[in-house]
Amino acid sequence: DAKRHNRRGLKHYPMAALENGRRNIQLLRDLVIAIRDDQLTMHYQPKWDLAGECYCGMEALVRWPHPDGHWVSPAEFVPLAETAGLGNDLFQWVLERVLREYADLIAHVPQAGPVAINISGAQLHDLSIVDRFTACAERYGVPVSSLIFEITESAAIVGGIEGAIELLGRLKASGVSISLDDFGTGYSSLSYLARLPVDQLKLDRSFIQKIKEPAGVAIVRSILDLSASLGLDVVAEGIEEEAEARLLRELRINSFQGYLFARPMPMAEVRELLQGRA
Ligand code: C2E
Ligand code: MG
Ligand code: MG
Ligand code: MG
Repeated sequence: DAKRHNRRGLKHYPMAALENGRRNIQLLRDLVIAIRDDQLTMHYQPKWDLAGECYCGMEALVRWPHPDGHWVSPAEFVPLAETAGLGNDLFQWVLERVLREYADLIAHVPQAGPVAINISGAQLHDLSIVDRFTACAERYGVPVSSLIFEITESAAIVGGIEGAIELLGRLKASGVSISLDDFGTGYSSLSYLARLPVDQLKLDRSFIQKIKEPAGVAIVRSILDLSASLGLDVVAEGIEEEAEARLLRELRINSFQGYLFARPMPMAEVRELLQGRA
């Protein structure tokens, strides 16, 4: 019977899907160990404020140097962790590590700026994260007002927009800021933008890539108008070229993140960068 099932499976799924399934199961096994044994690590990508020509904070990005010697992309293992019910463990690990490293940074560097943490999946609908993160911030002596949570519209919608709105409201009441990541991908419904209690919007790289075309400029302009009327800050993400930064500046965007300015790096390098500037 098992054999027949197997054969049927082979008939319906291309080999690639089976191979992929196998790889995912192996990756998941390794990920459980990676979280348990602290194999994961965090990198931080600085943000730049072009008006002030200076560093203005950073985004925490999880990294997995697999024991086999390659780096597994978070774009692959974060969604995998979520579908397998490991999202909560991963979130807790990231939270602890970021707060610990950030606490150490602010003890040495006065102008560290805020740090942004990505939240996704079921964590966006789990009210218990509010107490967990405030307790964690208190334990490390990190002021909650220097934290930003980055969420995506699609993660907020999947699992129920009402629940996400409630959680975001409570997070904001605790004193953190909320940033809407990857704006322009996924649903991008302007009505959601008005309903989600966010402080900031991150304009996705896909828009930046169209900024050299008139239609691209028109779209970005209308998003900026809307953001201004909703009182939202705008950060442009994924800036790789000088020309992109110049065009965005002409549209009066001042906050930037991208390889042109800085790559994600370990906290020790952020500290060197900041101490070098001081
Ligand atoms: P994201 O939150 O939109 O993060 C920005 C991604 O763009 C990062 O990829 C960053 O390294 C990359 N990036 C930055 N500047 C440039 C640029 O100039 N050009 C290009 N092409 N890319 C740039 P990364 O680190 O691979 O992360 C991918 C995604 O994985 C993130 O997208 C986020 O959705 C997720 N992720 C990363 N870390 C975490 C985490 O700690 N928790 C959760 N839940 N998700 C995470
Ligand atoms: Mg992000
Ligand atoms: Mg993003
Ligand atoms: Mg993005």
